[in-house]
Amino acid sequence: MKLTELFATGKPVLSFEVFPPKTTDKIESVKKATEEIAALHPAFMSVTYGAGGGTSAYTVAIAKNIQETQKVPTLAHLTCVSSTREQIDHQLSLLVENGIENIMALRGDIPEGASAPEEWSFQHASELITYIKTKGDFCIGGACYPEGHPESANQREDIQNLKKKVEAGCDFLTTQMFFDNNILYNFLYKIREAGIQVPVAAGIMPVTNGRQIARICRISGNALPPRFKQIIDRFADHPAAMKQAGVAFATEQIIDLLANGVEHIHVYSMNKPDVAAKIMDNLSKIL
Ligand code: FAD
Repeated sequence: MKLTELFATGKPVLSFEVFPPKTTDKIESVKKATEEIAALHPAFMSVTYGAGGGTSAYTVAIAKNIQETQKVPTLAHLTCVSSTREQIDHQLSLLVENGIENIMALRGDIPEGASAPEEWSFQHASELITYIKTKGDFCIGGACYPEGHPESANQREDIQNLKKKVEAGCDFLTTQMFFDNNILYNFLYKIREAGIQVPVAAGIMPVTNGRQIARICRISGNALPPRFKQIIDRFADHPAAMKQAGVAFATEQIIDLLANGVEHIHVYSMNKPDVAAKIMDNLSKIL
């Protein structure tokens, strides 16, 4: 099923993101965790590609398993930064063979010691999207950054580049995580004003490791609101308490988004069935 059909229903769409294993010996445990998340019946699930500790080799295997065992549509991520055109062709063929119609098309982070950009087959996600469009009838998603992509000089430039990505054929966007909903509301206003009209799924990260998220935010430039910093200060050294507080904060963010008309929510569930289940339970009468 193409995700554009889900976004067109006018009903709230809640999805979960998982990542593939790094090594073959972990494939069964990741399959089990992702099946448990799929059994909660989110609208769809996305499987990352070479991110979050996973590798690109198992993205399709995990996505296929979710679709086959739980009948939940999947979105397979695909990055182009260190891939040749032939590698992208191979991955696209694998997706078709395994019945996966939805692709999150990304550039990926530039690895240390990468060759000169002029040598790459694709410089930006928009070029990958243009290419995918010539290769089949896929539904294509792209990434966007409510606080600006770290490489961009400013948000105006980033939104102009985002517009190029949408014009290349991106059917919907998913945002980077954010912890202050006002940042998302301002961003949506600006992209709509810039003429970007595709559906946008708001990326929500339930924080279960306080120390880790403080470090990630320092690197990515994500703002941590004072209210959230207090939670980290108080609970970061108490894992069970941090998990409970992190899930409660994420739930509150989601309820506020839905109450303000943001109908598409993408939860970075990080292969944690208990976190995904708690969020679903907290929203059981709302979704
Ligand atoms: P692009 O859209 O190419 O943008 C990258 C930078 O280039 C931006 O600063 C942009 O403004 C600029 N730019 C874009 N187009 C142009 C242009 N035409 N001319 C000049 N400048 C331009 N990483 C993974 O490795 N695997 C994953 O599975 C993964 N999943 C993700 C899912 C989501 C929802 C998000 C938000 C990010 C994900 N990432 C993943 C991280 C992502 O790969 C990085 O953030 C990467 O640095 C940028 O990827 P992009 O597709 O946004 O790149």
